[in-house]
Parts: sequence; structure tokens; C-alpha cells
Amino acid sequence: MEKIRGWLVPFVDWGLHYQKYKEELDNAWKNVMERGDYIMRSDVEEFEKKLANLSGRKYAIGLNSGTDALFLSLKALGIGEGDEVITVSHTFIATIAAIYQTGATPVLVDVNENYVMDVNKVEDAITSKTKAIIPVHLGGRMVEMDRLMMIAEKHNLFVIEDACQCLNVKDTKGRMAGSYGITGCFSFYPSKVLGSCGDAGGVVMDNEEIYNKIRLLQDHGRKTKEETVCFGWNSRLDNLQAAILNVKLGHLLEVCKRKEEVCRKYNKAFRDIPEIILPPQEVMHENYVIRVEKRNELVQLLTDNLIETQVHEPVAYHKQGIECMPEPSLPFTERLANEVISLPLNPELNDEQIDYVIKKVREFYGKI
Ligand SMILES: *Cc1c(COP(=O)(O)O)cnc(C)c1O
Repeated sequence: MEKIRGWLVPFVDWGLHYQKYKEELDNAWKNVMERGDYIMRSDVEEFEKKLANLSGRKYAIGLNSGTDALFLSLKALGIGEGDEVITVSHTFIATIAAIYQTGATPVLVDVNENYVMDVNKVEDAITSKTKAIIPVHLGGRMVEMDRLMMIAEKHNLFVIEDACQCLNVKDTKGRMAGSYGITGCFSFYPSKVLGSCGDAGGVVMDNEEIYNKIRLLQDHGRKTKEETVCFGWNSRLDNLQAAILNVKLGHLLEVCKRKEEVCRKYNKAFRDIPEIILPPQEVMHENYVIRVEKRNELVQLLTDNLIETQVHEPVAYHKQGIECMPEPSLPFTERLANEVISLPLNPELNDEQIDYVIKKVREFYGKI
């Protein structure tokens, strides 16, 4: 095995990823450069059409990030100071930060055995100030949306789906992540299942009014070049990134397929190790997350053997002392933070690298 960035098994391998799709990607970005099409041009339009189709919704807007997809959804709904928005602590910090940045107060509930929002905990968190709920679908696992939508309807609350990690994921009812809420939010950060070569995101919806509002807010409130109707932000998706996403979207299924193969190999190899709690579902398209008691020791052993792992939040966010962060007691979220570790799961992994990871993890538990 060759070393990549000093690792025998890197968490991601962008160099190899580029080599795989080099011809198509080079054609795409050269074409954009030659046309000089940088801001809100045809590649963005094309991507928006594809995103709306893929997520089963009427409208899609390309944005600079998943964070702004969440933030602009909240702003378009008029959520701000004095309002409360319910979400989880077991997410990427952007979900909670987006609520805070509107002036509203994030209210955090615990997660369930699927590591996503425990819908049973939601009603107790609703107060007279609650305006919205942001369920976070994580790594291919969706929140129980039927039940959550019923609760939201009963209490007259908006639902904004954080589907940043769940493009093209369906629940057991066959319905897409991002297709339930007033909006669905996606991230195309490089390491997401559909990744750009930088920052990118998108938001999808059926409601025309919300669509028009987010359109305005993403581009300084400009309705046309000549007419500005409100203050907004610059949250546009770069045309160059859109061109790259259009290429990569064509390979989404093959990326997922390889990741599924890697997951199955790991699952099979770790099944006889009682100390390892396998991921809550068989295949994952984002991260391969296992739970172990001696997490830090396992990270160390793998690091010593040049295997790059990630612990996304070694301490739960609501226990990190982040300024203005609520600090409720969320026992399962806190436990997960102590136990989770993500093993390398990228479509560029070869069988030799996968076998090496398996061998080292098994050795840690005295299994040869
Ligand atoms: C990645 C991610 C975000 C933020 O997306 P960016 O594009 O990085 O701004 C939000 N929520 C979740 C669950 C994510 O995984």
C-alpha cells in the first residue's frame, strides 16, 4: 500500500477521486471557464432542475452551503427573536447555529437507537413559543417523519428537514428525505455523498411563496438586476461548483454502491466481536459509525497503524461550553459522543485497504 497524505488508509482520497472522473470534470470546468459563466448561470439552473427531480419536489434552489439552506428556510418563514425551534444536539453544529443566527432559541431533544431525533421526546419540548422543528436525517437514517409531521400539524408548527447527509435516501414508506417538510436542506460539502470541490448546498420545496422568498434572500433581495425588494444575503451557488455537481450527480449511484460494498465487508468482519456495536442500519452512504467502549484507545491504535478515522464530536455539543448553547441533559446523545468512531468509508478504498482496517480492528479485540 502507498501512503496518501501520510496515511496507509486515508479517510478520504480526493486525489484518486479526481483521477477517476478527470476527463469529465476537466471538460466541465474548462467549459465554464471558456464561457466565463461564474454567477447564477446555466449550470446552476441545470443543477437546480436535477435536484428538484431527484428529491421529488417542485422547486430547488442551489445555495452556497447546507448551513444557509437551513438559515434561509428559517428566515423565509419569519422565524427569529422570541421563537423556539426544536432540534437535536447529535448533528453537525450548523443545524443549531442556523437557529441561533436568526435570533431564535434552539431547543434540543435526545436521539433514539437510530441516532436520530426521538420523536417521542418532541411534544414535551413544545411551548407557546415553538415555531418549528428541524429533524436531522443522519448518514442515511431518517427520522420517523410520518409521526413527526402529525405532531407538527397538531401544534401548527413548521418542519424544516436537515437532509444534508441524506440526498437520495428513502424511508421505509419509499418517501425521500427532504420531501416531507416545508423545505428540505442539502449540503454538497466535499465529503457528503454528492460532494462539490468546495462549499455548496441546496434547498427544495413545493411551496411557491417560500421558493420566491428564499430566491430573494439568497441574492441580496434582488428580484431582477434593476429591482431590489428587501435585504438579503449572498448565499449563491457558484456556477463552477454547479458544473462539477452536474458531473458528479451522474456517478452518485456508483459511489453509493461502492460504499455499500465496503459497509457489508466491515459488518461481516466485525459481527463476531461483541464489544463493537455495528451501525444501526446495514449500509451507510455517509460515515461508517461504530460504537465501542474503549473508543480513544481504538482511535490511537488505528492512528499508530496509519489508518485515519474520525470522531465527529468527541464531546456532545451541548457539553462543550459553546457560548449561548443550551445545556440540557440528553443521556443517549452524551453516551454516543463517548462511544462513536467513524472508520474510513469512501468509494476510492481498495480491497487491500479495507482488509487492513479489518485486520487492525480485529487485532485490537484479540481476534486474528
Ligand atoms: C454538513 C452538514 C450541515 C452543513 O452543511 P454545510 O454545507 O457544511 O454548510 C448541516 N447539517 C448536517 C447534518 C450536516 O451533515
